[in-house]
Amino acid sequence: MNENTNTIIMNCDEKGAISKAAVILRKGGLVAFPTETVYGLGADALNPEASNKIYAAKGRPSDNPLIVHIADTYAVYKLASHVPKKAVMLMEAFWPGPLTIILPKKDIVPSETTGGLDTVAIRMPSHPAALDMIRQSELYIAAPSANISGRPSPTTADHVISDMEGRVDMILDGGAVGIGIESTIVDMTGDVPVILRPGFITKAMLENIVGAVTVDKGLTDNIPNIKPKAPGMKYTHYAPKGKLTIVEISDDTGAFSYITRLSVAKKINDLISEKKQQGFKTAVIASSKNAHLYNCENILIAGEAENGETIAAKLYGVLRECDDIGADYIYSEAFNHGKLGDAIMNRLLKAAGQRVIKV
Ligand code: AMP
Ligand code: MG
Repeated sequence: MNENTNTIIMNCDEKGAISKAAVILRKGGLVAFPTETVYGLGADALNPEASNKIYAAKGRPSDNPLIVHIADTYAVYKLASHVPKKAVMLMEAFWPGPLTIILPKKDIVPSETTGGLDTVAIRMPSHPAALDMIRQSELYIAAPSANISGRPSPTTADHVISDMEGRVDMILDGGAVGIGIESTIVDMTGDVPVILRPGFITKAMLENIVGAVTVDKGLTDNIPNIKPKAPGMKYTHYAPKGKLTIVEISDDTGAFSYITRLSVAKKINDLISEKKQQGFKTAVIASSKNAHLYNCENILIAGEAENGETIAAKLYGVLRECDDIGADYIYSEAFNHGKLGDAIMNRLLKAAGQRVIKV
């Protein structure tokens, strides 16, 4: 798609907005829409040309498959050639919601949608506008995050407009999303489910329903020659334009104690003053409680360290702010505590190109 498409922007609640989106999708067009995780960039999943338009609009590598969004459980049986019992149990427990399931694909799913794989990723979102749009279109909707490839996923309509205006046919504005990080992806093609991307649905929540679950070895940093099983996880995602470094405490006990917080702040303040002297623009990503500890012109508050849901909701917005500010060097605290710690740090570490300083 060229960059001169006339993009229609409508609020989800506006009369006729969802039906207009459905008509565009049926014609093979592109619609960005809100989900409970991040904004998606949707197209007819069974139409190879429509899928190709998604890759073109995002600048996404063609080997990085798309998640197919559905609005009714029976759709799984139209798309997947085998649906094991454990997959059904997870669907029952977590759909509609932020869980994507990988299953062997049926022939009707084109290889353009699955990046050439013989499996398909399927999710039923819980956002009412997303469900309504999928139902009205009577299609299955392939939808990656609605950002330019490599940029942080969009969590507000403004983020989508800044990346996608002129590249897509329509943007549905549903305000800020609820969760803020992408769905958990679980591979259900083997006997034991494997987490390919951590998210809001944690390992413990999955194990509570189906017993043992493992985590893709390729997700663990720095194991040579082991590639992540989800092709998208190998790319540097979410990265702001400036150089981001995470500063964290080496001994994690008492992570929230004043002395620990002070030693992280001291290190970050030292780094900032060094960069400032060299004439660079700096920014800090901090939890609300620590913001006052920093001596920096740009202190971006990610949320409350003790409450991962607040961090997840704001993280991508804060990474985009670093670009708006034009920060050359960005230093972030680690947010590795609580149930969302793994999911948040997976994204933050990628944004930082795995750069971590321990104090
Ligand atoms: P996004 O929609 O931007 O959140 O990206 C979708 C993620 O799902 C990417 O990391 C893809 O590599 C991954 N994915 C989609 N389909 C499959 C599949 N069949 N097998 C493994 N990973 C997949
Ligand atoms: Mg994405």
